[in-house]
Amino acid sequence: MTEFGNTALANLKQYFGYDSFKPGQGKIINTILDEKRDVLAIMPTGAGKSICYQIPAIMLPGITIVISPLISLMQDQVKSLNAAGIHAAYINSSLTDSQITKALEMAKSGTYKIIYVAPERLDNWEFTNFADSAEISMVTVDEAHCISQWGQDFRPSYLNIVKFVERLPKRPIVSAFTATATEEVKRDIECVLKLQNPGVFVTGFDRENLYFSVEHIKNKDDYIRKYVKDHSNESGIIYCATRKNVDAVFEMLTLDGVPVVRYHAGLDNEYRKNSQNDFIFDRKPVIVATNAFGMGIDKSNVRYVIHYNMPQSMENYYQEAGRAGRDGENSQCILLFSAQDIMINKFLLEKRISARWILRMKISSDSGILSALR
Ligand code: ADP
Ligand code: MG
Repeated sequence: MTEFGNTALANLKQYFGYDSFKPGQGKIINTILDEKRDVLAIMPTGAGKSICYQIPAIMLPGITIVISPLISLMQDQVKSLNAAGIHAAYINSSLTDSQITKALEMAKSGTYKIIYVAPERLDNWEFTNFADSAEISMVTVDEAHCISQWGQDFRPSYLNIVKFVERLPKRPIVSAFTATATEEVKRDIECVLKLQNPGVFVTGFDRENLYFSVEHIKNKDDYIRKYVKDHSNESGIIYCATRKNVDAVFEMLTLDGVPVVRYHAGLDNEYRKNSQNDFIFDRKPVIVATNAFGMGIDKSNVRYVIHYNMPQSMENYYQEAGRAGRDGENSQCILLFSAQDIMINKFLLEKRISARWILRMKISSDSGILSALR
C-alpha cells in the first residue's frame, strides 16, 4: 500500500464511513493520485464510481470540476458531499445569474474542492474566465458515454469538454466514468476526450445477487398484477417502452390498490420529481416508468425490475435491470417477451434518430437531451 493508498483509505473512512474499497476503486484512485494519469473507468451501476473521483478530489491540491449531465444528479451529490464535510458546489441553469457569480467568486477564493457543472457551462465566458485563474487539478467526466454519437444518450455539449481542457493554463488530470460502454463508445470516449495514456479499468459485471429470467407469456397484465401482489412488501421498477404503456400499467395497479407512481417525459417536472421522491423514500415502493427514469438513482432496496416491453439494447437492459439489488440482497430481473415489442422498438429507434438531428441543432441549455427524447 502506498502512502497515497493509506491516506485514501483514511479519507474513505472519515468522509464516507466505509472501511474498505469496492473492487476497482483503490486502483483507480491510485492511478490518479500516485501516477497522476488519466483514467477511463467502466463500472456497472452501483459499483461506486463517485468515490473514485471524490477521494482524489479531496486529496489533489486544487479544484476538481465534475461534468455531469443531469441537474438532479448534481444537486443530490453536492448535498451529500457537503453533509459529509466536503466543500462542493454546482453551477447550472437552476441558479440565477447572481447566484452563479457568487458561487464563482467563492470558488475563486478557494471555498470548494469539487464543482459540478453541466457540459453547456464550459462554453460560458464567466465560467472559463474563472477556470483560467483557478488551480484545476482534475476534470472528471461522469456518465462519459454521453460523449459518443454511437451511444444512445449522446449529448452534443459533451464534445466541448476537450476544448475546455485544452485551453486551461495547465492540463489537469482527466478522468472519465461510465456504466455502459461498447467497444465503439469506449474508443469514442478515449479519442474525443483525448485521454493521455489513460489507465483503463473495467470492473466485473457479474452481479451475483441478480436473477435474470425471460418470460414468454400471453397476458402480461395478469402476470404483473400477480407478481406485484405476491411481492407487496417489496420495492420494484416496471419499465415500459412507451408513455401510453406506462399510463395503462400505472392505472391498472392503482385500481388494484398498489402504492404505485409513474414517470415519463410527458409528465411535468413537478409531477416527476414527486414520483421519484415517493419511490425513493418508499412512500410508494413501486414505480412504472419509461427509460427516462433511473440514471443516477441511488435506491438500494429495489427487489425487482420487470421489463414490460423488450428493452432497446443490451446496454440499456443491463443498466436498467442493474438498478435491482444494489444492497447486495437477492433480486429479480424479469423480461416479459412478446414478438410485438420488436415492432415497437424499431419504431422508437427510427424516431430517435430523426429526433436526435433536430435536437443537435437546438440544444443550448442545461435542459438535457435525455428528457427531451423520452
Ligand atoms: P455508481 O455511480 O457507480 O452507480 P455510486 O457512486 O452512486 O455508484 O455508489 C453506489 C453506492 O455504493 C452508494 O450508495 C455508495 O455510497 C456506495 N459505496 C461506494 N463506495 C463504497 C465502498 N467502498 N464501500 C461501501 N459502499 C460504497
Ligand atoms: Mg454515478
